[in-house]
Amino acid sequence: MPGHPTIDLRIRMSPQPRPKPAEFHVFDTTLRDGSQQEGLNLSVPDKLAIAALLDELGVGFIEGGWPGANPNDTSFFAAMADGALRLKNAQLVAFGFTRRVGMKAADDPLTAAVRDSRAPIACIVAKSHDRHVEQALRTTLAENLAMISDTVQHLRAEGQRVFVDCEHFFDGYRENPAYALEAVRVAAEAGAEVVVLCDTNGGMLPPWVGEIVTAASEVGVQLGVHTHNDSGCAVANALAAVDAGVMHVQGTVNGYGERTGNAELLSVVANLELKYGWPLLPAGSLREATRLAHAIAEVTNVPPSARQPYVGLSSFAHKAGLHASAIKVDPNLYQHIDPALVGNDMRMLVSDMAGRANIQIKGEELGFDLSDRELAARITDRVKDAEAAGYTYEAADASFELLLRRELGQLPEYFTVHSWRVFTQSTHGQETDTECTVRLTAKGQSQRVVGRATARSTPSITRYATRSFRPTRPSRSSSSSTTRCGSSTRVTAPTPPSGCSSRPRTASARGRLSALARTSSRPPGRRSATRTCTASSMVRRTSQ
Ligand SMILES: [Zn+2]
Repeated sequence: MPGHPTIDLRIRMSPQPRPKPAEFHVFDTTLRDGSQQEGLNLSVPDKLAIAALLDELGVGFIEGGWPGANPNDTSFFAAMADGALRLKNAQLVAFGFTRRVGMKAADDPLTAAVRDSRAPIACIVAKSHDRHVEQALRTTLAENLAMISDTVQHLRAEGQRVFVDCEHFFDGYRENPAYALEAVRVAAEAGAEVVVLCDTNGGMLPPWVGEIVTAASEVGVQLGVHTHNDSGCAVANALAAVDAGVMHVQGTVNGYGERTGNAELLSVVANLELKYGWPLLPAGSLREATRLAHAIAEVTNVPPSARQPYVGLSSFAHKAGLHASAIKVDPNLYQHIDPALVGNDMRMLVSDMAGRANIQIKGEELGFDLSDRELAARITDRVKDAEAAGYTYEAADASFELLLRRELGQLPEYFTVHSWRVFTQSTHGQETDTECTVRLTAKGQSQRVVGRATARSTPSITRYATRSFRPTRPSRSSSSSTTRCGSSTRVTAPTPPSGCSSRPRTASARGRLSALARTSSRPPGRRSATRTCTASSMVRRTSQ
């Protein structure tokens, strides 16, 4: 908001809970654990594209997948080794498992695939829950420890840095703390640089995480944390682990992951950078977080959550009139950070909950002076009346601008519709045929136009029939527009032609514009005595 004082909220958040560790790892596993999300499938080019975006964000480590476990991941590591992408900030990590039961690590083909991936770092998952060793792995507790030690030592001897993910560590600790800690100790003694404590089932709560990480700290190795969101606490649990001393946090951008997902890495990083004051990403990178999160969503083709903390479309959106009137005084009264710090923006929503302040702020955003209280109040009433009739403006700025222009007398009347008539015919085995006749006055003349198309709704065909009288859409979105985020399409509410009736609809009614777009590919309809407008031939006007 121009003209308002800005406050650096980071100052308010001090003092820091604890000083930043000398070394801190931001470890992204979007390409490995994140890709296990239902409905999320990544090709090798997808993985390369996401790796480039993660590297631009400035994470320290990118876990690229599990070489040897599936052809896609093997190809990705081969492409990376062949120089398909040069990482500027991050280091590539290959995921793998401890060697098979009863086999030497040097002879295990899956361990060999990790070793031969040419990734500088291996992240090996190991069992640390006694029940999982005996019931899932079906081996002895001693053999599991030998598997950890042998695998880590082998990869270290082959020149890779090694991190160890202790699977189900927190659940295992609660049932058999001695064995869980022994797994950590064995990994550390074998040469693991970081031992990552995993809440694999995602059921922990922050106080439990803090307590268990504190206990594990006694082993004396660098600790990390990997949390899932099944209890809705993945980010909170990661922060609790950080408070208890871990120096390595794993997570995924946009919280991708199996079931309810992994810890959302951008939230963890933003919290630590903006609330604790720890610089974790390269200078300025956090200001690109919103753009990069949405760019990654474009690649995954998973629609981003508008309500995602920090980077969601709605993260700094205000609807209530009470908020708006305070925000006019100081935007920071109703936001926890300056949205620009994460590359996001405050948005004022226009709805039936809007007060005069919402309307004035939104008008200012769109370049209109609504300081006249009477005018602002009148427009507020117009919006509330329209919303009561079923219209929705909060995702339709262009429609709101049209309403504003009409109230301000800035909306030209291109034509006046006097009447319209629609005739629909359905013939078995053929597409439904719809014909619309519109009587109107345009360019000073009374005219009659006929539009015809197949399977089209009444409002759209009336718009279609009258489109030659409409102005060309300018590049600025002063009329309908579409945007795509992930696989979703948002369509702003087109205003029906003057005089045409239209049933109430939401401004974000999907498919309205795409239905119009589809008409261009439809074949011309049959001819009739009155020449009709079809997809390829437009309008015949007959003076009355
Ligand atoms: Zn996981």
